[in-house]
Amino acid sequence: MFWLRTELWTAEVVYTGFGTPMLRGAIAVQGPTVVGQGSLEELRARFPQAEVVPKGKALFPPPVNAHTHLDLSLHPLYRGPFSGFIPHVVAHREKRGLEAAKQGLEELLRSGAGAFADVVFKDEVMEFLLRESPLPGVAFYEVFAPDPEDAEEVFQQVQAKVKAWRRLEGRVRVGLSPHAPYSVSAPLLRRLAQYARAEGLPLMIHAGESQEEAAFLQKGEGFLTQIHGRFSRTPFEPPGLTPIRYLQALGALGPNTLLVHGVQVDEEEVRMLADSGTKVILCPRSNAYLQVGEAPIHLYARHGVELALGTDSRASSPDLDVKNEALFLWEKVDPRVLIRALTRGGYRALSLPTPRLTRGSPASLVHSL
Ligand SMILES: [Zn+2]
Repeated sequence: MFWLRTELWTAEVVYTGFGTPMLRGAIAVQGPTVVGQGSLEELRARFPQAEVVPKGKALFPPPVNAHTHLDLSLHPLYRGPFSGFIPHVVAHREKRGLEAAKQGLEELLRSGAGAFADVVFKDEVMEFLLRESPLPGVAFYEVFAPDPEDAEEVFQQVQAKVKAWRRLEGRVRVGLSPHAPYSVSAPLLRRLAQYARAEGLPLMIHAGESQEEAAFLQKGEGFLTQIHGRFSRTPFEPPGLTPIRYLQALGALGPNTLLVHGVQVDEEEVRMLADSGTKVILCPRSNAYLQVGEAPIHLYARHGVELALGTDSRASSPDLDVKNEALFLWEKVDPRVLIRALTRGGYRALSLPTPRLTRGSPASLVHSL
């Protein structure tokens, strides 16, 4: 009889994709196959001959990059105040498109991601992802239309496109992304949220990112008034609400909503997100590059908000490896929260099952940090 050598892989945090991430946990591996999981002590008792192999900070199933803009992968990296970011994206707009999305998807695959959520700006990129992505995920069609006069027409166009794209759904599904509360008019945002709910489409919205966004919505002040003025003939009437309260008032929070950033939030807003079942996608490195502050992860964890992690685009993040988002926060946040967000939180946000590391799983599913 030939016995494969057993190794006990261990790390600061071990997460099997179910239950709670373990401190002092381990995964027993024989050749190409996982043969057990549990606490290191338990596995040592079960496999007394096995060699203990430390694998660093964490072991976990394939991570999820829950927020990308693959079509910005050829943009130069921006670092500076938030107010300069949109002009930066616009200044390099000729680099945005299919070629960038293809390169971004390659990078995502090389990073070992198990699933992804991408915000898509151009039709050709949507079709490419739906037809050709080997990675499962959701491609969220981005809507940017601040003028309330355009709401009906834009809604009709979006609805027709989504209908056609849904026939191509397979590994990748279609979602909707009203860009942000400052760049989509109130009637359109309300309509898109209703439509998404009725059709079971996931909704991704950038919100609570910068202080400028809050100032714009509460008082109609700041540089976003200029951006708004460039794209809207109708003057902006501020709702006088913070971003999360405003989205709540528009009916845009809920279990199918993925709120990206969530940096500028108070505890009552965190509770609103928790109560509505809204998921929050954190992009900590992008937040640092755009100098908008840090999301209150302890508040989200305390109120039980489902968290996921995303890199955001190459325009505000040095790479598309979502594991680096967890590393970036490693010393500041309970690593078990980070590893759950990196994996199960992401799969749940995308309504995908979380791969499990258990007896019989391929060892190639075990990722490390
Ligand atoms: Zn983004």
